[in-house]
Amino acid sequence: MENCIFCKIVSGEIPSSKVYEDEVCIATLDINPAAPGHTLIIPKEHHQDLTDDVDEKLLGHLFKTAAIIGARQKERLNAEGFNVIQNNGEVAGQSVHHLHIHVIPRFANDGVLPLWKPTEPSMEELGAVKDLLK
Ligand code: 5GP
Ligand code: ZN
Repeated sequence: MENCIFCKIVSGEIPSSKVYEDEVCIATLDINPAAPGHTLIIPKEHHQDLTDDVDEKLLGHLFKTAAIIGARQKERLNAEGFNVIQNNGEVAGQSVHHLHIHVIPRFANDGVLPLWKPTEPSMEELGAVKDLLK
């Protein structure tokens, strides 16, 4: 894809701090990390987001790679845990429109903000949404 920054990172046209590569994807450090070690899992194939007819096998591969990187963050960076985050659409925080998964190592009191503030809908409100989604 022309003008896609992640396609350019995959091809090597733009340099990046690559920590993993196989035939299907790469993992590279985010240039503006939420915490040290914040890694992006990027498929070599261009897909805009998760709804872009993504093959089941590719999705499984990306999540398996996220697990490998998360385990490394725990073993080698002494992270106590990690978040796996995947944004779809600008309203959801997606700024690069090439499918990717964030793996963010977590440390006690690291200041990384939670993604949402829990709300308390009524049973009727939950039921209305359930009917729309099921
Ligand atoms: P999104 O907001 O689309 O879920 O995530 C895109 C991520 O890509 C952001 O966290 C941003 O910091 C990162 N990013 C943007 N441009 C570059 C780049 O040129 N190199 C690297 N390594 N990361 C980038
Ligand atoms: Zn791309």
